Amino acid sequence: MPARPVDVITPADEPAGPQPVDLMHELSIAQSLIELLEQRLASEGPVRVSRVGIAVGELSAVVPDAMQTAWQVATRQTRFEGATLEIETIGVTVYCPHCNQSRPAADPPRLRCSVCGTPADRMLTGMELEVRHLEVLDPDE
Ligand SMILES: [Zn+2]
Repeated sequence: MPARPVDVITPADEPAGPQPVDLMHELSIAQSLIELLEQRLASEGPVRVSRVGIAVGELSAVVPDAMQTAWQVATRQTRFEGATLEIETIGVTVYCPHCNQSRPAADPPRLRCSVCGTPADRMLTGMELEVRHLEVLDPDE
């Protein structure tokens, strides 16, 4: 058999070797997200997924760029491969006992009312990881 060369150049969009440490957080989130979506798709049959929208809290430590990369890695050879991931960031809001209402936090991760500066003990938003929308393609499309 004739010898043939094997391409050893790693394409630019293929991560070489182990994932960088700073992606591990997003990768584990991407994998949890896929598990969550699989549960929601259980009754849909063998559809492919074309678009996923998520909302992540500012304090959930998800970096959108890293999350996009992690999504591409985690979805390889799954029905999510090629699906667009839309990420919406949710700001941190706290319940201010002085204003007696919800207010944006002044300097997250510290919880302080941005209006009057009173320390708040209750965070209302900022730690979310939620699926907002999901679009699928039927197998014959
Ligand atoms: Zn206040």
